[in-house]
Amino acid sequence: MKKIKKKNRFFCLGIESTAHTFGCSVIQFDLVKKKGKIISDLRSIYQAPDGSGIHPREASRHHLDKSPHILREVLIQANLKAKEIDLISYSAGPGLGPCLRVGAVIARALSSFYNIPLIPVNHALGHIELGMMLTECQDPLVLLVSGGHTMVLAFSNKKWRVFGETQDITIGQLLDQFGRYIGFASPCGNKIEQYANQSTKKYYNLPYIVKGNDVSFSGMLTATKKLIDNGYDIFNVCFSLQETAFAMLTEVVERALSFTEKKEVLIVGGVSANKRLSTMLKIAIKRQKATLYSCPIYYAGDNGAQIAWTAICDNISSGTTIKVQDALIKQSWRLDKVEVKWR
Ligand code: AMP
Ligand code: MG
Repeated sequence: MKKIKKKNRFFCLGIESTAHTFGCSVIQFDLVKKKGKIISDLRSIYQAPDGSGIHPREASRHHLDKSPHILREVLIQANLKAKEIDLISYSAGPGLGPCLRVGAVIARALSSFYNIPLIPVNHALGHIELGMMLTECQDPLVLLVSGGHTMVLAFSNKKWRVFGETQDITIGQLLDQFGRYIGFASPCGNKIEQYANQSTKKYYNLPYIVKGNDVSFSGMLTATKKLIDNGYDIFNVCFSLQETAFAMLTEVVERALSFTEKKEVLIVGGVSANKRLSTMLKIAIKRQKATLYSCPIYYAGDNGAQIAWTAICDNISSGTTIKVQDALIKQSWRLDKVEVKWR
């Protein structure tokens, strides 16, 4: 396998395919300034039929169908030929097996055909690393809220340590499963936010479940569905759902912040696009004399730049690359099991 040539800059291709998104991105890394720049980014999101969730096999077919176009276009946008890429990275987990396999197979094929070094990346770590790169925060408490994750984390002794997480479904799953129940197309968070904004702000009681510093959303999902079945106003149910779920998240973030005494909070993942959530968080974070950093909305959801940037951090710190035959996937790869050598 060729080594990254000694030069002032190199290019890393990141491939993301954990769930609904097939995304590719190229990051140019300047070895002198030690800075990365996203020079191209493209994605295609699998749209499940209205009212249904991600079907792993159908999503993987979508990724396979779209991958030639996305790959070609991302290289054109970066003004590069495939052989000019210096490092290839792919999200190896956690995620849906059939979807992860598409990204891994493409990464393996490109790596072996063009003889380019290869790096697997933990998807959740990708959300955090890109969020830190784009917001320039240094040592944050992290709230990772997405389709696949609901976690409060802080970094200590080479690992992201969990200070709270969901005991059942994620916040993204709560929003998407409720949204699909009322007929929205998945992902539904944005539409629920719009409905909540149009409500009369009448609050319906919902189960507020915080256990220690963990949260549980499955009872709330059942309760919101019951409200709809019993004819309650759909806009106010969306409002009540947001108020309850986000208050739970705010409570656990504030407690973790008070415990860790961090001065920065970084919110990453697709749900960080929600304005009501950031408003609630800001109040609690101000009380703890800390600052809120939000990943820019365009890069909040799943994308290839998260993968490319994390691979660059890994490679420049320790020269990590793997053999093509070791480029596997890990569907249940927990973030707190990953050793982060560069922090
Ligand atoms: P990710 O898994 O990081 O790509 O994030 C996808 C999740 O973000 C899905 O569950 C979406 O419903 C959710 N999401 C996207 N936009 C919003 C929004 N404005 N408010 C709440 N959730 C959102
Ligand atoms: Mg994600």
